[in-house]
Amino acid sequence: MISFNVPPYIGKEQDYIMEAIRAHKICGDGEFTRKCNKWIEDKTGVSKALLTTACSTALDMAAMLSEVGPGDEVILPSFTFVSTANAFVLRGAKLVFVDIRPDTQNIDEKLIEDAITDKTKVIAPVHYAGVGCEMDTIMDIAKRHDLLVIEDAAQGVMSTYKGRALGAIGDYGCYSFHETKNYSMGEGGALLIKDQSKVDRAEIIREKGTDRSKFLRGQVDKYTWVDMGSSYLPSEMNAAYLYAQLEEADRINEDRKASWNEYYEMLTPLADTGRIELPVIPEECEHNAHMFYIKVKDIEERTELAAFLKRKGILAVFHYVPLHSAPAGSKFGRFHGEDRYTTNTFERLLRLPMFYGLGYDNVEFICDKIKQFYAER
Ligand SMILES: *Cc1c(COP(=O)(O)O)cnc(C)c1O
Repeated sequence: MISFNVPPYIGKEQDYIMEAIRAHKICGDGEFTRKCNKWIEDKTGVSKALLTTACSTALDMAAMLSEVGPGDEVILPSFTFVSTANAFVLRGAKLVFVDIRPDTQNIDEKLIEDAITDKTKVIAPVHYAGVGCEMDTIMDIAKRHDLLVIEDAAQGVMSTYKGRALGAIGDYGCYSFHETKNYSMGEGGALLIKDQSKVDRAEIIREKGTDRSKFLRGQVDKYTWVDMGSSYLPSEMNAAYLYAQLEEADRINEDRKASWNEYYEMLTPLADTGRIELPVIPEECEHNAHMFYIKVKDIEERTELAAFLKRKGILAVFHYVPLHSAPAGSKFGRFHGEDRYTTNTFERLLRLPMFYGLGYDNVEFICDKIKQFYAER
């Protein structure tokens, strides 16, 4: 059986976790958390990166820091994971869904401006499959309309747009280190903050609304409750697991990209005859091989192909049920304009196994089976 995902494991994780245990430091913000934060800051150039318990909670923090509240509107794609939306729903805001592009499955930047009203406060682009959205256009719209940009870069660690790290372009960026992502700590994420003046409040929100971070650095002599907040910092043991992977980020990235390129090459003949569509990577984007997906004719063919692959021992999966068609989506938001590609993409897209260590033989086996499926039709 070829799994859809295998959590990344490098080998040093156990040593680092033992180090944290032996140092009697297993709660948050110890040495490994600091090393992970620094790694992200060095890699992306943001003023501050803070590890969190999930990308979902990083998004929650970004929504709080943006002071999104009841009556405000947030523009986002409907083709995304629920967390992009929940962060704003929790603050009482209204969701305004915009259609995606048929090439990258990212929010269509050309449709954003038409969805802006005098209530719009935030644009939340999602970098699907670790391939950057058209960020120059999005940042320009945000600037002209005085909006904030919160990037859901859950899938975008190590990816760039015009040489800039995803997650470091908007006002806030959110990474995921869930076990299904390229670099993992089981459950976890990070908030990336561009503007230095927002860092103090972010640290306070992350530490239950207290100025404990300043206290630990010796900047205040006692700590107190100063703002709203919750506990958004992950355990040192999780950070230790992650740091082992960040140290080897290039190796993991190259391994995934090799598999991605093998898929692309082996499936090109099927794309050339029009049986399937392959992912498109715009010239300005360097991606991280987070995902390899194909798009087939329609939902029937997708269902049959997934079942066929399963019989051959290959797990291929699909997503996202468009948020605007889910019960909570229609309650908390509306779709602006026409749904040309969101539902269509959901119905046609199939994700193939992709993980660190997948290997050439597995990719070849999977591609052979896909070719067999089409040869028999
Ligand atoms: C995985 C993912 C999330 C959620 O990440 P968690 O770390 O599990 O909270 C949010 N948005 C997108 C686009 C994702 O792929």
